[in-house]
Amino acid sequence: MDSIEKQWTWEEEIKGKLSFLQQISQIRQLVNVEQAEQTWLKINDRKLLNLASNNYLGLAGDERLKKAAIEAVQKRGCGSTASRLIVGNHPGYQEAESALINWKGLEAGLILGSGYLLNTGIISCIVGRDDIVFSDRLNHASIVDGVRLSRAEHKRYRHNDMNHLESLLKKASGYKRKLIVTDTVFSMDGDIAPLSDLVTLKERYQAILMVDEAHSSGIYGMDGKGYVHHLGLQDQVEVQMGTFSKALGCYGAYVVGSKWFVDYLVNKMRSFIFTTALPSAVLGSIQASIQIVQKEGIRREALLNHAEYFREKLSHLGFNICHSQTQIVPILIGPNDQAMQFSQLLQENGIFAVAIRPPTVPNNQARIRFTIMATHKKHELDWAIEKIAAVGKKLGVIS
Ligand SMILES: *Cc1c(COP(=O)(O)O)cnc(C)c1O
Repeated sequence: MDSIEKQWTWEEEIKGKLSFLQQISQIRQLVNVEQAEQTWLKINDRKLLNLASNNYLGLAGDERLKKAAIEAVQKRGCGSTASRLIVGNHPGYQEAESALINWKGLEAGLILGSGYLLNTGIISCIVGRDDIVFSDRLNHASIVDGVRLSRAEHKRYRHNDMNHLESLLKKASGYKRKLIVTDTVFSMDGDIAPLSDLVTLKERYQAILMVDEAHSSGIYGMDGKGYVHHLGLQDQVEVQMGTFSKALGCYGAYVVGSKWFVDYLVNKMRSFIFTTALPSAVLGSIQASIQIVQKEGIRREALLNHAEYFREKLSHLGFNICHSQTQIVPILIGPNDQAMQFSQLLQENGIFAVAIRPPTVPNNQARIRFTIMATHKKHELDWAIEKIAAVGKKLGVIS
């Protein structure tokens, strides 16, 4: 041992990587948040206006959902004890899945643990090695991982760019199956996919179309059925998935479509087969939430009105809101450190909104992502807009 060079250790290497993330302002840390299901959350005993949750309809803290969850636990216990194909398929599933199918008006549906699980499992049931997937460049990470697991050829088309997608489809005639996959509402930009054009293209090139309605189910369309229904395309989009974790205020995900496809998923989808069934509490709250979402259209109206108001005000102030058309309203900042500083100053002013940085968004496109809730009050939004404008001026983001 005559070398004075320090030996490699795993610990040193990892610590080096962490300090690099710190240097480029991409380090992530957990914050303890209380009352995130409400419009005012609490961090270190300070109340902050919650402009960061996906609880769009304000249902996560709803008394009726809590009651449904508690009753389900009392009836069926906490753990579901096994996967669904063993003994985990408790009556909570039949109740929630029939509520889901009635709501969406489709033949069959399946409820899974989370959107991440669903997307990572389902794509392998549609395509494999000899096939090709066309995926919007801004699709959610769970879709990207799902495509990777499928081993299909992966082409990412420019965000919402139908000309680019068509040029890629033209070159793919040698593949057996073609899958086009897109979010309906994009989670970091708040804009919407051109679904009618996607349907035209998938028909022209005999592809299969899958959409992810995580940020649109419960919000758009009649009875909150989703964006696909809003455009009347429910019979043309083969695979429709969404989550119960955002607008519906619960947890879990669903896929709805043809019975033969759902039957196939039960036989083949690894993220369905090899995992424990959801606890009864979750299914109880899902079922209650599906009923409430259909009945209380007033929540959707309030949300969409608030969101439009908020977008118009921020845009008018000179912020770049990245083509947002929805309840997700980003303001583009650019450099990571400036976005971090922006969010820090917002917190000092009583507002909680997070800085979204790479790799979640492309380099030099760090942003603050605001999300609106139906249960925000107009005067709270006005108050927030004033603070956001002041921070924007202070940091030179707007003039
Ligand atoms: C949140 C989200 C998911 C993941 O759903 P979880 O239930 O949180 O795992 C999938 N797709 C999109 C577009 C999302 O926004």
